[in-house]
Amino acid sequence: MTDADASSRTQDRDTSSRTTSSPTKDANGGDVFADAVRRLDTAGRHLDIDPEAIERLKHPRAMLTVSIPTRMDDGSLRVLTGYRVQHDNTRGPTKGGIRYHPEVSLDEVKALAFWMTCKCALIDIPYGGAKGGVIVNPKELSRLELERLSRGFIQQMADFIGPDTDIPAPDVYTNAMVMGWMMDEYSKIMRRRVPDVITGKPIPLGGSLGREDATGRGGYNCITRLSHRLGKAPADTRVAVQGFGNVGQSAARLLHADGYRVVAVSDSQGGIYQPDGFDVPSLIQFKNESRELKAVYCSGSVCEMINAATVTNEELLELDVDVLIPAALGNQISTANAARIRAPVIVELANGPTTSDADPILNERGVLVVPDILANAGGVTVSYFEWTQNRQGMSWSIDEVHRRLQAKMVSAFDTVYDKARHEEISLRDAAYAEALTRLGAAISAQGTQSYFEQPN
Ligand code: GLU
Repeated sequence: MTDADASSRTQDRDTSSRTTSSPTKDANGGDVFADAVRRLDTAGRHLDIDPEAIERLKHPRAMLTVSIPTRMDDGSLRVLTGYRVQHDNTRGPTKGGIRYHPEVSLDEVKALAFWMTCKCALIDIPYGGAKGGVIVNPKELSRLELERLSRGFIQQMADFIGPDTDIPAPDVYTNAMVMGWMMDEYSKIMRRRVPDVITGKPIPLGGSLGREDATGRGGYNCITRLSHRLGKAPADTRVAVQGFGNVGQSAARLLHADGYRVVAVSDSQGGIYQPDGFDVPSLIQFKNESRELKAVYCSGSVCEMINAATVTNEELLELDVDVLIPAALGNQISTANAARIRAPVIVELANGPTTSDADPILNERGVLVVPDILANAGGVTVSYFEWTQNRQGMSWSIDEVHRRLQAKMVSAFDTVYDKARHEEISLRDAAYAEALTRLGAAISAQGTQSYFEQPN
């Protein structure tokens, strides 16, 4: 499933406790947060940044673990576990989504919160980073159970979040309706309407136009900019998309409309491959009506099967294509398969799809990786627009949202791309260098050792 805002289906305060991490292993047996902060040291080496700033960023500022007693439809009680990690708030209130997934762990949420800090600094919006998650398979819950869980989570989190402190949003397997329930619950607790406590809300409840497809659209903005820089025509660009939830679908739809050839797509069940390219609107229509990903061509409401090969999710990553878009979960590209990736360009729409030890393998082979903190920043950027509109009591037109999003994405992309070319470093190192320079300046502005050791 995609990083942000994925599927359409989707605590009394005194039971909550602060906790420290119990590390969870990623696919390579590594520790996800430790792997994430490893990139701080790599990028920090290229920078004139105070070591104290790097040290600060290695430690999330606050973490909350809560129990969420949730009444099931059959009358039984399930006590679910939820987390919220606020990584750093030097540049503004912390910001980041809430995911519902059976494999959520505190360690993973810490890594995701760290990436949000870097993402918000890189795209230059006045937020720090946070993330939340509940260990649950939402596909096993009824809609009423999902609503009780979402409201219960906010009851437990209400003192920890707020429109000026920490602002949640959708992520894997949570959507606009879940955000609407959460905003409503928070508003009931506060006894006033607080739309700016959460973003990614339904539009009638204060959501922003253009938030729904913002992550995919931001990735599409990066790809069109890269094509322009490389002088490559859309019709000559074959694209494979891993993950066909909200983000993968939006990116595939926009690319197809521009003439790119979307030749492979997959969901959690597996994928399909057709070298001539698919009619993406037909795939989306069929998937959203039947919940199945099938090689189809639809004319109106009639869909016909077309010839296509089936591929596994692993095989999709290794296809001979021009652009590979991981838009599912983390740790998909690791030392186990990095040497076999044939795409010359990877655009990371998921969070953390590439492990840090796969970076040098891809770099040596000349694979250009547009990193997650840049490629998928469109979601949080339009979240910022939503929060701004809520605070102004205004609503912007869809054209205005698209125009402002594109301006943010293109400016960040160009900065990273030019820095990478100029300094002969990877796009990922350039993106982290840019983000860390902004974070370092903010942290140093509060004083570091070199300031305090000077006499008055
Ligand atoms: N979950 C999205 C992300 O990973 C969006 C976060 C937000 O809008 O705050 O970037």
